[in-house]
Amino acid sequence: MTEYYLPCDFAKAPKCDAHIHYLVTWDALLRYASSVNMHLVSINTALDGVPVGRQLSVSVRLKKKYPQWFDFLGTFDPSGFASASFAGDAVAYVKKCLNAGAKGIKIWKNIGMTLQDKDGKYIMADHPAFAPVIAYLENKGVPLLAHLGDPRSCWLPYEKITLANELHYYNTAPQYHMYRHPDAPAYEEHLAVRDRLLEKYPRLNFVSAHLGSMEWDIDKVADRFERYPHWTTDLSACIGHIHLQTYRNRDKVRDFFLQYQDRLMYATDCFIELTGVKAKVKRYLTPGRYAENLCALVGKEWRNHWLFFATGEKVPAEKFNLPDAPQTLEGLRLPKHVTDKIFFENARRIYAL
Ligand SMILES: [Zn+2]
Repeated sequence: MTEYYLPCDFAKAPKCDAHIHYLVTWDALLRYASSVNMHLVSINTALDGVPVGRQLSVSVRLKKKYPQWFDFLGTFDPSGFASASFAGDAVAYVKKCLNAGAKGIKIWKNIGMTLQDKDGKYIMADHPAFAPVIAYLENKGVPLLAHLGDPRSCWLPYEKITLANELHYYNTAPQYHMYRHPDAPAYEEHLAVRDRLLEKYPRLNFVSAHLGSMEWDIDKVADRFERYPHWTTDLSACIGHIHLQTYRNRDKVRDFFLQYQDRLMYATDCFIELTGVKAKVKRYLTPGRYAENLCALVGKEWRNHWLFFATGEKVPAEKFNLPDAPQTLEGLRLPKHVTDKIFFENARRIYAL
C-alpha cells in the first residue's frame, strides 16, 4: 500500500534545502533547521560584493560546528578568465575548496551575463578558459552546480513577468534584467550552451540550479531529463513556477514529479545575511528580533513547500503578477518515498552528503 505523509510529520521527515546562501557565521537558523530535520547545503557563489574567500571561510566554520546538518559547495572567481594563468589558478582554488570539505563546485550566471572580453564579447560557460576546470571536475567525479541563464522572466518586459518576486528582483538588479540588455546573449543561447556542455562532458555530475532556467515549462525540463541521463537539477527559486503550472494542470505536474523523482532536489535559494538584508525579508522583520523573525519566515516557507509536495493540504500560493492568480493551491500529495527522495535522498546521493 502506498504511504503518504500527514501534515504533522513535517518536523520529523528527513529534509534538505539543497541550495541556500548562508553568508554569515550567525547560526540561529542552522539551529532551527536541525530542530525540524532540515539539512542545509550552502552554495558559495561569485556574487557581487561578497568575496568567494570569505564565503569559503564562513562555510568551513559552520561545517565544523554543525557537521551533521551543514554542507557547502565551493566556487571560483571567473573574472580573470583572460589571464594565461587562469586555468591553473582556478583548478588550484577548486582543489582548495574540495580539501576544505566542499561537496561540489558552483558556477554562476555572471558567466554569460556580465563577463565580457576586451572587445565587449560576452563570455559563456563553454569558453575554452573554463574547459580545464570542468574536465577536472568530470575526472574527479565532483558535482558541478551550474546556474546558467536565468528565469525566462529575465528577458521579458515587466508587464509579462508572472512572479511577484522576480518582478521585484529585476527592479532592484537591473544589470541582470536582460530585457534591458538586448546586445547580451538571448535566453535560448544560454540553454544551448548548457546543452553543449552536457554533450561534451557525458560523465560529469552536472547539476543545474533553478530547473536549468526552464522553470516556466516542465516539458522542457522533462526533455533534458530524457536527453541527458547524467543531468539533475534543483528546485531553488522555482516553487512559484511549479505553483503556477499546478494551478493550470495539477495532474501534469504531479506526473512530472513521479516520473523524475530521482532527478530533482528541493531547495529555496534563501540568502542568510545580517547586513543588506533583502527588502523582501526586511518587511517581515521587527528590529532587534532578527533571529526569531528570520527563522519563522524561512521555517514557514520550508513547511509550506513540504506540505505542498507531501500532502493534499491547501497551501498558500506564491504571489503572482497575474489578474487571475490563485491564493491557495491543493498540494501534490506525492507518496512518502517520492517526497523523501525530492526532499532528502537525491541531495544525499548527488552531493554525497
Ligand atoms: Zn542561489
